[in-house]
Amino acid sequence: MSALKELYTQISGCFKCEIARSRCRAVPGEGPENAEIMFIGEAPGWNEDQQGRPFVGAAGQFLDRLIESIGLTRQQVYIANVIKCRPGGNRDPLPTEIENCAPFLEKQIELIQPRMIVTLGRFSMAKFFPGKTIGRIHGTARIEGGRAYFAMYHPAAALHQQSLRKEIEADMLKIPGILADLGSIKEITPQAQPQQLSLFSDVQ
Ligand code: URA
Repeated sequence: MSALKELYTQISGCFKCEIARSRCRAVPGEGPENAEIMFIGEAPGWNEDQQGRPFVGAAGQFLDRLIESIGLTRQQVYIANVIKCRPGGNRDPLPTEIENCAPFLEKQIELIQPRMIVTLGRFSMAKFFPGKTIGRIHGTARIEGGRAYFAMYHPAAALHQQSLRKEIEADMLKIPGILADLGSIKEITPQAQPQQLSLFSDVQ
């Protein structure tokens, strides 16, 4: 069994949080083990809990279209969530749930080694851009350790608010350029990196 599959088994067998007892299925995440881009949402909703797959409801269909807008398919990217079980009544994840699930997400990142992590919504953003607000940093990338971290609004928020829809569509279109620039960053020496980094909005 691959290390990623082994991790999925561990996630499905985890009962650290109360919400694990009411879940239909855990939703570990899905995508190729060598995916370059990893999208990280918040938590499974009703549809995801039923199917055991991330982003399969209305927000997921919108995410699929956004991914297609940059010439990729859902099958080419990795999609995960900050927590792997559905919080009852679609409430926000609790700090303890995020903390309990963090090792699973961290292991996923370690195994997949994506070149770019795209955070969807504020819970995912809080992990990679602590102390920042989504309204200020969405559509900007931070480069760290040869990887781009890019913050976007959550597709569900954009579905409900027309004004955000344009923002999320425009932010998505920046991804290919960031990945291309990252290719050149990999070539340069560490000393040369600060000049390269100024290509991006610095959100540190
Ligand atoms: N919203 C999320 O954040 N994740 C999902 O998997 C579905 C909806």
